Amino acid sequence: MRFIDLARGYARYGKEIEEAVLRVLRSTQYILGPEVAALEEELARWVGVRYAIGVSSGTDALYLILKALDLPAGSRVLLPSFTFVATAEVVRRAGLVPHFVDLDPETFNLSVEAVAEALEKLGSEVSAVVAVSLFGLPADFLRLEPLCEKHGVVLIEDACQSLGAELFGRRSGSFGRAAATSFFPAKPLGGAGDGGMVFTNDAELAERIRALRVHGQTRTYFYEYSGINGRLDEIQAAILRVKLRYFEEELRLREGVARRYFRELSGIPEVRLPVVPEGVRSSWAQFTLRVKDRDRVRKFLSEKGIPTAVYYPLPLHLQPVFRDLGFSEGSLPETERAAREVLSLPMHPYLQAEEQALIAHLLREFYR
Ligand SMILES: *Cc1c(COP(=O)(O)O)cnc(C)c1O
Repeated sequence: MRFIDLARGYARYGKEIEEAVLRVLRSTQYILGPEVAALEEELARWVGVRYAIGVSSGTDALYLILKALDLPAGSRVLLPSFTFVATAEVVRRAGLVPHFVDLDPETFNLSVEAVAEALEKLGSEVSAVVAVSLFGLPADFLRLEPLCEKHGVVLIEDACQSLGAELFGRRSGSFGRAAATSFFPAKPLGGAGDGGMVFTNDAELAERIRALRVHGQTRTYFYEYSGINGRLDEIQAAILRVKLRYFEEELRLREGVARRYFRELSGIPEVRLPVVPEGVRSSWAQFTLRVKDRDRVRKFLSEKGIPTAVYYPLPLHLQPVFRDLGFSEGSLPETERAAREVLSLPMHPYLQAEEQALIAHLLREFYR
């Protein structure tokens, strides 16, 4: 069994992908051509925003948003510690200071109460909040948006895991001033390499990000900003356009897989199932449990041929690279508890009922 089985998807639409790649190869237009433009248009419409900008990765999408916002140098950015390292790494790269905030133990997303508290305490030192829609579950934007507005700070969505998710009918990628997503192969909409996209309704911000992804160029060989080489490749865009045609169906398949897990795994006292708040549709990037004896159950499953993952074993505020920020063991108790308890099970659209039944059987056997 594989944790994410990309081969099963490829068996369905691989032929179409190969044709799309050949089309781009033969066109010899490899950089910022019709495929990237078409994907930007299709995804902007799909997410429900005015502008989408294809970029080199989810990491660069986040970086370019922060860079384009031109926030005061050295100001603080509130963000979760329970996330992939990129969320915090780009804050530093943009000349800002990450300030980690604890999570909501139900959803693993930013605790709105903790954000409010930090905003009160740090006042004008804070310039932005980056909320991650972790594991495919949108953060609590209905409360974060008015809170950030009240304090005059910019809200950004890290939607790298949550493309396809919804919150009361609004799609992930449409929250805050701008959002970043990733097309890393393991994400819900994954390409065949690195790629990402920025979404926003802000015309000026979109224009600046378009310039920043091409070295800050605003007209040919004229550089207004200090940018990067942050473009999405034509070949990736062509592949993603094929996969986008299957995306709705794959999201529904993921939902079915999640429903089967809920059915199969209910009633095991040592296992806590994910919580999906009212009005939320998850993209089910991960199916993440809280379990008792996490490391032992993980080893047991691995010995029986079941791959699992731990996202994330060491929270960012305890990582050596962020040690200088002044956080330590005990700073974010809910985050640290989650890091000890979480276990992600195999999750992808083509996971079979029998495979899930086996996983459930083994979990029951372990706890018996
Ligand atoms: C994957 C991911 C990123 C980075 O995306 P890349 O395309 O790998 O650069 C950023 N934030 C989160 C939460 C992610 O899961």
